[in-house]
Amino acid sequence: MSIPAPPEKMMFQLSLRRRGISDQAVLHAMEAVPRDRFVDPIHRDGAWRDTALPIACGQTISQPFVAAYMTEQLGLRADHRALEIGTGSGYQAAILSRLAKWVLSVERFKTLADSARQRLEDMRYDNVEVMVGDGLALPEAVGEFDRIIVTASVAEVPQSLLDRLAVGGVMIVPVGPPAGRQTLLRLVRGQDGLVRKPLVDVRFVPAIPGTAREL
Ligand code: SAH
Repeated sequence: MSIPAPPEKMMFQLSLRRRGISDQAVLHAMEAVPRDRFVDPIHRDGAWRDTALPIACGQTISQPFVAAYMTEQLGLRADHRALEIGTGSGYQAAILSRLAKWVLSVERFKTLADSARQRLEDMRYDNVEVMVGDGLALPEAVGEFDRIIVTASVAEVPQSLLDRLAVGGVMIVPVGPPAGRQTLLRLVRGQDGLVRKPLVDVRFVPAIPGTAREL
């Protein structure tokens, strides 16, 4: 006898499909990553609903649809090196890790980075590295990436990140004012330059330069 899937997980998949996520690998990753393990116990009951939720340090874990949509737009392959700016809970990093070869995720709050690293380690996502740092000022030594996802909003696309994008690479980034209308952009680096395509309007917490002084 098979155990029926919990209805909330079924609804979760259904709502992602209904909203237009169709990449099977992305849907599978969304199903496989237990979002309830990435939120505080008090929010666990609502973890499979399609809403953003508060995490430590005044930040938020992204809405599942937005995480799925950004992942789908990245077009990850199993041989890709991926970079995430804004680790937060580590949820998006876990999703990426199921689709890419290796993921570097950068977070400016040490508290968040430490707990996300521990969580990902406990769950055996061992192709993810979590680093404390300013994702807007990465050292050249981190190398180039095939895919870059920014999960905090920026006023404009940072040159420092464009410099880390390999030829043929794709970057997904929310651009706009901190409290206003932000648009998700998809940037593709071709041989002859960048192609920019606006996708949808979104709402993210802003990226803040520098590492956090407290915590
Ligand atoms: N992707 C996360 C949610 C991101 S919330 C998840 O799946 O849970 C945005 C995160 O970006 C916050 O944790 C915030 O601290 C971080 N952030 C903001 N500015 C940053 C910067 N300059 N460098 C690195 N991380 C930054």
